[in-house]
Amino acid sequence: MLYPESKMMSAGYDPNQFEGSLKAPIFSTSTFTLKSCQEAKEAFEIAFGLKDSVPGKKVENIYSRLNNPNLSILEERLAILEKSEDAAVFSSGMAAISTTFHQWLQPGDLVIHSAPLYGGTYHYLKAILDKWNIKTIEIDPTDQAEDIYLKVKNSFEEFRVGMIYLETPANPTNTLYSIREASKAAEMFSETGEKPLVVVDNTYLGPLWQKPLVHGADLVLYSATKFLGGHSDLIAGAAMGSGELIREMKLLRTFMGNMPDPWTCWLIMRSLETLHLRMEKQCSNAETVAEWLSHHPLVEEVLLPSMLRPIQDSQQFKIYKQQCERPGSVFSFRIKGGEKEAFKFLDSLKMIKLAVSLGSTESLAEHPYTMTHLDLFDDREKYGVTPNLVRISIGVENAEDIISDISEAMEKVETMAETGLVVK
Ligand SMILES: *Cc1c(COP(=O)(O)O)cnc(C)c1O
Repeated sequence: MLYPESKMMSAGYDPNQFEGSLKAPIFSTSTFTLKSCQEAKEAFEIAFGLKDSVPGKKVENIYSRLNNPNLSILEERLAILEKSEDAAVFSSGMAAISTTFHQWLQPGDLVIHSAPLYGGTYHYLKAILDKWNIKTIEIDPTDQAEDIYLKVKNSFEEFRVGMIYLETPANPTNTLYSIREASKAAEMFSETGEKPLVVVDNTYLGPLWQKPLVHGADLVLYSATKFLGGHSDLIAGAAMGSGELIREMKLLRTFMGNMPDPWTCWLIMRSLETLHLRMEKQCSNAETVAEWLSHHPLVEEVLLPSMLRPIQDSQQFKIYKQQCERPGSVFSFRIKGGEKEAFKFLDSLKMIKLAVSLGSTESLAEHPYTMTHLDLFDDREKYGVTPNLVRISIGVENAEDIISDISEAMEKVETMAETGLVVK
């Protein structure tokens, strides 16, 4: 048995079928020639969910909105990576998320969710699903299964629990939610109705360091724009789970038409070959940089899970030990002062670019309070998104260069303080 990283170069593709081409070609075609009407009939029956595919027998390609070899090969590799039965790819992370909501929610449902959520997800839940009479309830990171159950029973008894949706670790604070407690709560709701799906957005930590399905999640979602793509050159999404759930999602994708194009899939296939290398390096760089930052006199706090203290942060520390293997490479820190100091720091960085997005080969930094998390408005402080918070996604550069860039930018903040702008 090969390890997943050893399979990323070849799984799902046979060079002998394509002139010996070592790498899978880009299947830039909208439609496929069908061998016979009988084969076409079968292929359509499988594509529209009327019939199961025969294990081991190749599913015929029909039309690139339904399937295409670049999508299929990528999906096979993503399932290997996640150790799931199947995977489905989408045109963006938001496409994967919105398709999940459309597939499993109906009017009169309640969605239980963690907080804060990615801005796009939050907007979808609050502004778009609300129009369909789908309500939401937020849970706390400290909530156990019983707490989740009681919160719902006390205030939303007439609603059907349609889904438990977690984003853990949460962007931008790395707040952790227990997938096991959410899964236990789902079991409790199943006593009075259907068991709601537990869905985990695993984008922020990335696919290597946390396996939500192992901890009781039914479905894992990714913005493949981030670690899976990893080079800031594409937008895509992915979902992994049981064969049955993914089949349902692919069927809806056919009608929503939100699949990625073959070229994007090809780029992600290329990226998967170095996923382990990139994520290992990014993570070790992040640990080095976070450690350095934690000793800097202008830094109040560094929010990387490996910095959690066993006693003082016992609840978060316990979840970290239970479900994450490593701390990842995206974290925030609080600079002494406020927005002015955070802006000075960010504007003074040279190698590290000011940009949103994360998980790529290059280091990026941004200001959640006025950028990615602006849409939380008055709730920002409640979630720890303060004006002095700076988010940084660590890349694969030499850690010494990252630290020098940060160190020089910190000096600019110090100079600003000395010349009259007071650091509180
Ligand atoms: C970026 C991101 C998304 C949205 O993904 P897109 O590919 O931009 O649509 C969803 N969730 C998280 C946690 C993200 O960081």
